[in-house]
Amino acid sequence: MASSKVVILGTGGTIAGTAASATDAVGYAAAQLGVAQLVAAVPALASRSLECEQVAQLDSKDMDHATWQRLAQRAAHHLARPDVAGVVVTHGTDTLEETAYLLHRVLAPAKPLVLTAAMRPATALMTDGPQNLLDAVTVALDAQAGGVVVAFGGRVWAGAEVRKVHTYRIDAFAAGDAGPLATVEEGSVRWSRAAPKTQALGLAAIAADPARWPRVEIVLNHAGAGGMLVDALVAQGVQGVVVAGTGNGAVHHVLEAALLRAQGAGVRVLRSTRCASGPVIGEAALPSAGALTAVQARVELMLQMLPTE
Ligand code: ASP
Repeated sequence: MASSKVVILGTGGTIAGTAASATDAVGYAAAQLGVAQLVAAVPALASRSLECEQVAQLDSKDMDHATWQRLAQRAAHHLARPDVAGVVVTHGTDTLEETAYLLHRVLAPAKPLVLTAAMRPATALMTDGPQNLLDAVTVALDAQAGGVVVAFGGRVWAGAEVRKVHTYRIDAFAAGDAGPLATVEEGSVRWSRAAPKTQALGLAAIAADPARWPRVEIVLNHAGAGGMLVDALVAQGVQGVVVAGTGNGAVHHVLEAALLRAQGAGVRVLRSTRCASGPVIGEAALPSAGALTAVQARVELMLQMLPTE
């Protein structure tokens, strides 16, 4: 018989947030409720075979590498269990795309690893968390589901493509040019395409003490950009720099000169874009991050430089 258990890993976020008033959807504290409380608030989940584990309790703006390491380890542990069909992670929306990309590259699981979140706290008059959580469990149990995906706002996004595109609306995610993978409709999933695949790096790739993970920073191109930030980062021992270029990854000539100097000094540099959609195409003096957003490129560069022990 196919396994039907779903493990729900809690990490905090607005989905676990509370406000003093039900009409307050922005002035709230994230990461207040435990993951078991989130599940208990969704009557439709009572009939499901679920297991909850609190991996962290934070506002995802404060996400850190140690939490990523622990989350990846716990997700991998549960995904390896034969009685588990899939794993759901409740998360904040702010850095959801970074966590999703990291888990995609490190684990690339055959079973579904479904991240979900909410834009409104659990106490809001019309909160989006319970429906998103229910949809995430639906996706985790769907026979066609696999890999790292995000269930949010009635749609399923690829962990490799998803990005937050709005500051407060409940329809806050998109996937650049790619669009969603699927729609969740009244408890069933309608797939449009399969999630992009990758070769998993494996947990060993992120086994190093997080204090030793390489320092990779992001700088932005803009009118009047200079090299001061890059020079300061190099002086501080930065190991990688992602530049979010203008348009098709273009970089002001003064900033570019500083980045080339950094590269010459052994710092890895990747050129992304500050545009909300579209890959960086074509060659230039600095290597392109392709279709990766600046924050994804930062994760990618860090993963490529992590010490293996
Ligand atoms: N700051 C919150 C977080 O990322 C925002 C949210 O979850 O919507 O944890």
